[in-house]
Amino acid sequence: MADASTDNSASDLRLTSPVRDITGVGERRAALLRRLGINIVSDLLRHLPMRYEFEAAEDQIAQLPVEGVGMTRGTIEATRFVPGYGRGGRGKGRFEATLADPNGRLKLTWFSGGHLRRRIMAGMHLRVQGKVTRFGDYLQMVNPKWEPLEELDTTPAEDERLRPVYPATEDLPSTAIEQIVRDVLPSVIDQVRDPIPIDLLQHHNMPSLADAFRMSHMPEHEEQWKAARRRLAYNELLLLQLGIAMKRAHVREHLAAPVLKHNDAIDQHIRQRFPFPLTRAQDKVVHEIVGDLGETRPMNRLLQGDVGSGKTVVALYAMLMAVSERKQAALMAPTELLAEQHHLSITNMLDGANVRTALLTGSQPAPNSAERKALLEKIAAGELDILVGTHALLGGAVRFADLAVAVIDEQHRFGVHQRAALRRVSSSEFRVSSSDDAPASTTGTPPNSKLETRNSKLNVPHQLVMTATPIPRTLSLTIFGDLDVSLINELPPGRTPIVNRLVDPGKADDVYSYVRQRLERGEQAYVVVPAIDASGTETTAQLKTVREHAKLLEQRFFEGYEVAAVHGRLKRDTRERIMDRFRRGKIHVLVATTVIEVGVDVSNASVMVIEHAERFGLAQLHQLRGRVGRSSDGRRSLCVFIANPTTDDARKRLDAIANTNDGFRIAEMDLEIRGMGEFFGTRQSGLPPLRVARIPEDMDLLMLARRDAIAMIDADPDLAREGRAMLRRILLQQYGEALGLIDVG
Ligand code: ADP
Ligand code: MG
Repeated sequence: MADASTDNSASDLRLTSPVRDITGVGERRAALLRRLGINIVSDLLRHLPMRYEFEAAEDQIAQLPVEGVGMTRGTIEATRFVPGYGRGGRGKGRFEATLADPNGRLKLTWFSGGHLRRRIMAGMHLRVQGKVTRFGDYLQMVNPKWEPLEELDTTPAEDERLRPVYPATEDLPSTAIEQIVRDVLPSVIDQVRDPIPIDLLQHHNMPSLADAFRMSHMPEHEEQWKAARRRLAYNELLLLQLGIAMKRAHVREHLAAPVLKHNDAIDQHIRQRFPFPLTRAQDKVVHEIVGDLGETRPMNRLLQGDVGSGKTVVALYAMLMAVSERKQAALMAPTELLAEQHHLSITNMLDGANVRTALLTGSQPAPNSAERKALLEKIAAGELDILVGTHALLGGAVRFADLAVAVIDEQHRFGVHQRAALRRVSSSEFRVSSSDDAPASTTGTPPNSKLETRNSKLNVPHQLVMTATPIPRTLSLTIFGDLDVSLINELPPGRTPIVNRLVDPGKADDVYSYVRQRLERGEQAYVVVPAIDASGTETTAQLKTVREHAKLLEQRFFEGYEVAAVHGRLKRDTRERIMDRFRRGKIHVLVATTVIEVGVDVSNASVMVIEHAERFGLAQLHQLRGRVGRSSDGRRSLCVFIANPTTDDARKRLDAIANTNDGFRIAEMDLEIRGMGEFFGTRQSGLPPLRVARIPEDMDLLMLARRDAIAMIDADPDLAREGRAMLRRILLQQYGEALGLIDVG
């Protein structure tokens, strides 16, 4: 590395160069860097420290401050392991080493240092830091921090400083990454261009991107890395908010949905189909939806309502508005079971009406059958009014003649892409602009190009997405910022709250004996277990499985009653037959996996037992529990969670579920336990993970970014102005697909 001709500063290293081109990074290191997601030089700049450690200036051993914290380096002369010290047997002993430099010796001692036997060996060069004490004639450090040095004469730390600690692997420690970054940074940092307009940065008193990178990798003091972090977090949030603002503007400007008429006659006509009057909360949401559907701007509404709050009829109301204009509507559910259930209840309510409905799932009508082909033709010819189904609706073969309303149920089960895709099914040509089709790496986007060049607006259906998993405000501002939100905050009348019990596995027999009493009173029960079969590592004694458990319950507790098992691997018609018999009260106990998590609606089933409840997520437990508590005859439903929690998180989840029936409260607690950050980078969000910003801690930055983004897009909806090209390109690259800016609009 001393040879100037191979020095990085002399080479023409680019931000886009592969890391292999860095002097000192060979094939092996390049591979190790790739494992950390670092492929090119700019990835290295973006590989930010997780934290910083204060590092004292280095001294020679003889100059180390006794009774102070010191740092030094030297060569290991000898090591020794004294077994048996402390509790816990082998490996728990004391590890000792002697570190020497030309003028002195330092004794190093690690208690419980057995693991160091294979890592620190005579002849190695080490840098150590710790409190210095005197031990007889020697200086000593007890449990010092240490790191291996490849060569003794690598740059010693002359001044005290903040040392960055990087996400690393065992084969490529933080110090090695630090060394590479320090070598490379000076020669490439001037190539870093800032996507954010300088006036905005000045206004917020934030450093340039280049400075932010420099200050996070090599901070001179704490203020620097803090300022850098703030800038980089803002960067991330601004891009996200720009994406959301741009999408909104885009929808407004370039997409149109059919205007659906509404008047008292239509309203009465629709309502007479419902077997009950709507609740106040349902009425309010219907009103909001009616308003949306009367505009050419496509509805993009999220309907939140706890399990059992009656979202389905509201959706049906919207769908029937499409039908009354002789247009089509579609309802997409996440599972076949739920799609079947929706289809059933919709056809029941529309019994005798002149509305043509059909069900389309992966298996129904049978693939390649004449029946399926005929159905697809009807859809395309406009001879079908309401289509209910699973994501099979998104299959290429489905073409609607005139889809006006698209509803997605249990939105949390779908990814953003699927939501976007449903919007697309009614229109065969849905690409937005030619300039976006260019590969992301092209930098030559002309600054005044438009995202959309057509004059006429593209027709899309109105979209309603429904969820029983409420989204806290923080998140709705981030991920779902492009949706309008409606809320059903009241349950249909007559419901009595579910009684919850948290029970130890040892008490399971008592639970089932009690369930039998409820069966004797004519009620029905669900028993939920986590698995279909025993997996390799666990026996059925450890983990109750559907089939085994159903058999056992029938023999031991439910003699004379009908017990059946359902799970995802049953054939559809077998499963349908079982569900149908359960609905009609012919089956008394349904032992099930989470296939019944959403949508199953049997009001006489008033008892649920969840086995191994510690294995389920909080939101999932709440969904499962929502299968009971559906009768309005005043009977108390019961949900028993049989659980043996072994982790803190599991205990928190179970306490939460046992102590409240309020879905919003549960969703909040769920986020508290899991952390909001987890939402990003998930299938649900479809967004790249936030790497720097932390939600909710960076809420103030989020609000700042949101304000800036809205102002910027208001003034320049396509970011087509001078100096915005880079921002626009990065935006489309990072968020284009997730936010549907490229081909959805
Ligand atoms: P979810 O919001 O969980 O999808 P559903 O739409 O499945 O809830 O409704 C739950 C149950 O409540 C269904 O049996 C439905 O028929 C019933 N229901 C919905 N609205 C009302 C109402 N206004 N009055 C009485 N029962 C209702
Ligand atoms: Mg529902």
